[in-house]
Amino acid sequence: MTYDLILKGGHVVDPANQIDAVMDVAIKDRKIAAVLPNIPSTESSKTVSVFGYYVTPGLIDIHVHVYGGYDGWMFPDVHSFTNGVTTVVDTGGAGWKSFEEFRDTIITKSQTRVLVLLNIVGAGMLGAVEQDINEMDPVPCAETVQKYPESIVGVKTAHFGGAGWEAVDRAIRAAELSNTPVMIDFWPRPTRSYSDLILKRMRPNDIHTHVYAQHIPTLDSDGKVEDYMLEARERGILFDLGHGAGSFWWRVAVPAIQQGFLPDTISTDLHKRSALIPNANMLTTMSKCLNMGMSLEDVLLRSTAKPAQAIHRLELGNLGIDAEADIAVLDLQRGNFGFVDSGHARLQGNQKLQCMMTIRSGQIVWDPNGLSWPDWKTAGEYTVINH
Ligand SMILES: [Zn+2]
Repeated sequence: MTYDLILKGGHVVDPANQIDAVMDVAIKDRKIAAVLPNIPSTESSKTVSVFGYYVTPGLIDIHVHVYGGYDGWMFPDVHSFTNGVTTVVDTGGAGWKSFEEFRDTIITKSQTRVLVLLNIVGAGMLGAVEQDINEMDPVPCAETVQKYPESIVGVKTAHFGGAGWEAVDRAIRAAELSNTPVMIDFWPRPTRSYSDLILKRMRPNDIHTHVYAQHIPTLDSDGKVEDYMLEARERGILFDLGHGAGSFWWRVAVPAIQQGFLPDTISTDLHKRSALIPNANMLTTMSKCLNMGMSLEDVLLRSTAKPAQAIHRLELGNLGIDAEADIAVLDLQRGNFGFVDSGHARLQGNQKLQCMMTIRSGQIVWDPNGLSWPDWKTAGEYTVINH
């Protein structure tokens, strides 16, 4: 057989390759082998009809918490694959002192591809440690980033409440030393403003996460997107959604998106306190973006190709030939749906994305409707529960 699996008749949206059309997708040896209008089923040992669904690159969530040393953590696979996510980036759970334990306990044990933004704090997100500037040493942080390039994609600083710029500057210094981007979670203080952060401190291609949080002055008092937001975007600063428990507010996000200020990347900040209420999983967060007026193409671009660019992993987030076969099959449902934000306010919507199948490295890892399974009446002898 030429192929191991064909997904037949789906609407392929592959923003990196500018494909937006009904196509078949063929997989061989865990890689994308063909994306063509009509691939005969006779050329594959298995064919699954995905007619009526969207077929996209496996989604990339560049802000999650899956390191067990942080008390809000969650093991990735159950939360990622059910949402079409095949790559997650743990943001700052671990620092240089804890990265190897993270690798041994989670990264090598999960089927999800787990990448890392390493905390500038040596011990990572262990409570008050993130407030201690003596724990923020750029040199061992950068050395660890460079030692594990297969897993670590950059540096993170978060939650710092002090008056000075130390947390930001030291994280940027570690990113300079390791030639990687930095992701910054920022709490403005009278001594350090958000506009100075994005106009003067951050470098082009660095990422600010939680752009629609209530504590970020994205809008002026009339609800207009601040000029410094546009200027920062012009100079290459990336703005990440980073939903989380407290960082996504309709009153910020709706006006910003209506004025065309879209997130560069859509991410969840998924952890124990954001997963239930306000339900910050990936497809719900993407659905929120759709219902605020973003197009499906924009939403998928910012969940696949753009996050891959942001973490300098251009081999991910696309369905190019020979790319590792990470795929999401999504259903765009129409109806009456409600969505909630971090302030527990509601937005009424009429579109919702559901995951019909997730493929990670050529393997079907989520198939809740049994699209790839035979009907029980014709299955013959079947005894294998999970293979
Ligand atoms: Zn976070």
